[in-house]
Amino acid sequence: MNLILLDAEDFVSEHVAELHGARLAHVREIHGASVGDTLRVGRLGGQLGEARVTQIDADVLRLDVELNQSAPEPLQVTLVAALPRPPSLRKVLQQATAMGVKRFVFMGARRVEKSYWQSHALEPDEIRRQLWLGLEQARDTLLPEVTFRRRFRPFVEDELARATAGGDRVLAAHPGAASACPRALSDPITLVVGPEGGFVPFEVELLSASGAELVGLGDRILRVETAVVALLARLAP
Ligand code: SAM
Repeated sequence: MNLILLDAEDFVSEHVAELHGARLAHVREIHGASVGDTLRVGRLGGQLGEARVTQIDADVLRLDVELNQSAPEPLQVTLVAALPRPPSLRKVLQQATAMGVKRFVFMGARRVEKSYWQSHALEPDEIRRQLWLGLEQARDTLLPEVTFRRRFRPFVEDELARATAGGDRVLAAHPGAASACPRALSDPITLVVGPEGGFVPFEVELLSASGAELVGLGDRILRVETAVVALLARLAP
């Protein structure tokens, strides 16, 4: 854990936080912290800083907290992904959050299995857990927003097409696309990633007709979670 993320509920006064449960266990067992040690902390939605351990035992970790640094700049990328199978969904959420994505949209597509929509991985607590892990990994505090659009066609025809008509840039990653994925973009963009089986031809045509640019990463076909990381690394300024 590179950062201990503190929620508003952890604070018992302006500068004092108390942790119990899994985070207390982690700090005792993994950090091996004792009274007087300093830990790196952040307040959810707020600043980063340091905390001095003033009490640690089986029941409580008590911290004196001093927050004085801004969280890192978010990545200006909205990630739209065809809903992946649950283990990939967890990885995409955690890794893209660590890379600075603040807005996720998971959509349906022909090759998204219906059972994925019933998965435990989509429950709000489970999603929050993955986002939280991504924030702690990257020393960030701003929780991303996650939304779902189960129907591909209305989402692409209405929302994506409206965005491109308004001047937003939308890149759809598709193996074999004639254009290479651009590098180091500083303007906000929307990145669309397909399902494990890929987009069907109709979906590729609809994305193109809605103003998305088809972009590739070369000849290697990557797993969804790998493609997401490779694409974000390439797009980051
Ligand atoms: N057989 C599928 C196809 O040809 O579309 C493979 C799909 S791939 C496992 C899943 C998604 O990751 C793709 O829909 C695409 O969005 C992204 N992806 C993977 N490798 C890529 C590459 N080399 N270039 C662009 N996108 C890629």
